[in-house]
Amino acid sequence: MGITVLVNAGPWLAVPPPGYGGIENVVAALVPELRSRGVRVVLATVGTSTLPVDERIEVFDDGQFAQLQRPFNRVMGVAAAHLHRVVTELRRRDDITLVHDHQEALGPTVLGALGPAAPPVLHTLHWDLGKHPALYGGIEGGGGLWVNGVSFAQLARAPRALRALSVGHVHLSTPLAVGADRRPATRKGDHVVVLGRVTRYKGQDVAARIAHRTGRNVVLAGPVGPCHRSGDLGGADADNPDVRYWREDVEPLVDGTRVRWVGTVAGEERDELVASAAAALFPIDWDEPGGTAVVEALALGTPVVGYRRGCLPELVEHGRTGLLVDPGDEDALAAALDVVGRLDPGECRREAARRFTPARMAERYLRLYDKVLARCGRP
Ligand code: UDP
Repeated sequence: MGITVLVNAGPWLAVPPPGYGGIENVVAALVPELRSRGVRVVLATVGTSTLPVDERIEVFDDGQFAQLQRPFNRVMGVAAAHLHRVVTELRRRDDITLVHDHQEALGPTVLGALGPAAPPVLHTLHWDLGKHPALYGGIEGGGGLWVNGVSFAQLARAPRALRALSVGHVHLSTPLAVGADRRPATRKGDHVVVLGRVTRYKGQDVAARIAHRTGRNVVLAGPVGPCHRSGDLGGADADNPDVRYWREDVEPLVDGTRVRWVGTVAGEERDELVASAAAALFPIDWDEPGGTAVVEALALGTPVVGYRRGCLPELVEHGRTGLLVDPGDEDALAAALDVVGRLDPGECRREAARRFTPARMAERYLRLYDKVLARCGRP
């Protein structure tokens, strides 16, 4: 497929990300698969990205993630500066077949308004759209903008105007799924892991309460706002909602033994922590749109226990690769942890190898690129 795709990863983190980074992990998994299928990739990203591509454009030397914790106008300033560079590039050249955009903040609003001379845009929705409808306010069909979801559930909650632009959904993937069915089993410890940003809607407080109630060890891994380890917390901005959530609802329950916070983990440390866990817990207080950490847990042979909402029922088969209970029912969550050891970790790894490889994700995106080009009359 001799096409050139400008993949916009946005200005927030390097690709691949140094630790935490859901969207950047998607781009890092997708791009090599596209290139191995003959697609030329121009990546719009930040200077510290190390992902091999055919060409790169960038504004910022390093990821601007910390700006996301600042006032909204700072966030928008960074988002606009990055997009300005992307738009300038699109105006300057005529070899881009399609833009695959991953930048929520202003991405679809700006790139979708470039008019018929610009290449068509496929914007991948990464957020829960019920929660952030304003990000897509004012967007209408009729231009070159199309969107895809990362789950069916996510699209179902999207505003109607956005659903009208949908060309389908593509579940997230993980490189850990490649050969997961052939990897030897990891010895399981007695801990349960919660992997993700520490933020109210990921439910770390619920996990910590369950730990104390049931006597299970819970390990929390992930950043608290801009803080990646406990030493960073001293100077943390007390008005940051995630820092406040940590201080008020989670930290009082963290005793260093029954409940531990290990900060952001990466690479082998992360994989070992998840693979050796009895379960990966997702007591989510939102409609999780895509759940990279869910597919990673499965690929590492760790069953998922969580609330039946958002994308979880699409990714996890209740009774085989995990246990899903009614949202908000902490008793049911605790009971599920009691019996999750009966599930076969091999089933989780086999499911991941079958459904969540980057190759499979890339094949699906290539079909969506074809669909978008056909709809724009550029087959
Ligand atoms: N992550 C990580 N280290 C951490 C916490 C998270 O590498 O300490 C990664 C995690 O493995 C996953 C991503 O960050 O790849 C989080 O993506 P997800 O879609 O689960 O959550 P969100 O994008 O909503 O934060």
